[in-house]
Amino acid sequence: MGTIVCQTCESTVEHFEGEKVTTLYTKQCPNCKEVSVQEV
Ligand SMILES: [Zn+2]
Repeated sequence: MGTIVCQTCESTVEHFEGEKVTTLYTKQCPNCKEVSVQEV
């Protein structure tokens, strides 16, 4: 199983099916996008 982790807050964003255990990083999760909007 693979995991997608937010690069900004390091929280797990999503899991996906896969033969290997994989961790992918995404720049922003929906939560961080909301925070960014508020800061701007
Ligand atoms: Zn995040």
